[in-house]
Amino acid sequence: MSIRLFNTLSREIEEFKPSGGNSVNLYTCGPTVYDTAHIGNLRSYIFADVLRRALQYNGYKVRWVMNITDVDDKTIKRSVEQYGSKATPKELREYTDKYFEEFKKDLEAVNIPTDSENITFIRVSDKIEEIKDFIKKLIKLGYAYKTGDGVYFSIETYQKKFGDYGGLVGPDFLEGKEVGARVKVDEYKKEDLSDFALWKKQDESDGNIFWEDEELGNGRPGWHIECSVINKVAFGGAPTDIHTGGVDLIFPHHTNEIAQSQPIYKPFVNHWSHNEHLLVDGKKMAKSEGNFYTLKDLEKEMPDAGMAFRYLTLLTNYRKQMNFTMTALKAAKSGLESLSNYRFNEPFQYVSDTNYEDAFREDLNDNLNTAGSLGVFYMLVGYKGVEPLADKMADTLGIKFLTPEKEAEIPPNVKELADEREKYRGSKQFVKADELRKEIDALGFIVEDTVKVESVVKIEESPEGPIIKPKK
Ligand code: AMP
Ligand code: ZN
Repeated sequence: MSIRLFNTLSREIEEFKPSGGNSVNLYTCGPTVYDTAHIGNLRSYIFADVLRRALQYNGYKVRWVMNITDVDDKTIKRSVEQYGSKATPKELREYTDKYFEEFKKDLEAVNIPTDSENITFIRVSDKIEEIKDFIKKLIKLGYAYKTGDGVYFSIETYQKKFGDYGGLVGPDFLEGKEVGARVKVDEYKKEDLSDFALWKKQDESDGNIFWEDEELGNGRPGWHIECSVINKVAFGGAPTDIHTGGVDLIFPHHTNEIAQSQPIYKPFVNHWSHNEHLLVDGKKMAKSEGNFYTLKDLEKEMPDAGMAFRYLTLLTNYRKQMNFTMTALKAAKSGLESLSNYRFNEPFQYVSDTNYEDAFREDLNDNLNTAGSLGVFYMLVGYKGVEPLADKMADTLGIKFLTPEKEAEIPPNVKELADEREKYRGSKQFVKADELRKEIDALGFIVEDTVKVESVVKIEESPEGPIIKPKK
């Protein structure tokens, strides 16, 4: 079996081959834990999880690593806002703990297991020493230089040796561009191309959030260097087989990751996979745009919102932009409900000569055509006798079936009260009927009177009588 994947670096769909036999080193740029993740971020992680599952389906052993950015401009700013100008790394840790825990809950809700069997999270604040060493090596090799406010990476030096800066964006990335002096902030645009910060010396806005170092000066790492170091630490210097992230990370983050890493270890990454954005009203969903939804927002609309959202993302290839609407989410939830009903309630005897498994695999291995695989799965799931295959397909796409709602058991005493109440209502003794409704309520049940619509103008009580159900 072989899986074909689009590689951002070669701009082609390639047959994927891991460097180490049957094992795949998979790395995903994780969240900046300064706030709750939005569902655009979650699209990115669902894509990486589908990739992980597809690789396993193809027989590979996957080691999946994700960094947790708990040291950067945004986490420091928020910690200083919360703890004041004397905030320390301990308080930064405390502040980001909360969002890291919340993030793991969100992942579980979209069926991305967070146990160490499945994924290894590495926090930046746990790797400061390794980051410092890496920066010192870059200085020693001449790729980095010190200034009054920190340590910067020299694009010019890199370019002279490697000649491929920006290759992930395009082969002629640097053509016609001036490399500016220096940029200290973590995020910047292609037009602001400059030597970027590896280490930032502490300044007033950082409070007391800094790490001591004689050679580098007291300070903290920039954003990009963390991923170069964590890839190396995680895989022991072996190449990362696949590195994932959203397309907004191609520049500057991943471009800079490549430049920082290659002078120290090469090959760094063999295959780059990027997901396209989730949009709202045609615009990228982003905290800075204020046009975002969190999983909690979706959960207010419906139960099992996480699974419905995962299902929705499977309907669009990861390399295509996807516009989010609540209506689309509701439709996805119905699709998921139908699948679950087919699986549990309406099995037909299997009589097809279609090879569903081949069709499913072909679509999945075709650059993760999840919509195609889902279609095949949909056709198979209603049959009796192929349940193990259906369950394997569900697991490969990360779909958890919804449990069909069971009819609630109504205890005899509640039923008796309800019957009595009906008699009172029949003889129009509404006060007595209402008293009984209250008694039923106190027992934890509600009575909903049903109606029969005869025509638009005539609505009367349904002959089937009222519905009794437990209170939520
Ligand atoms: P951040 O926490 O901002 O570093 O983002 C975490 C991940 O989410 C990165 O891989 C981003 O590229 C990705 N991402 C951010 N916004 C979106 C979006 N609207 N749609 C899909 N992925 C996104
Ligand atoms: Zn990263």
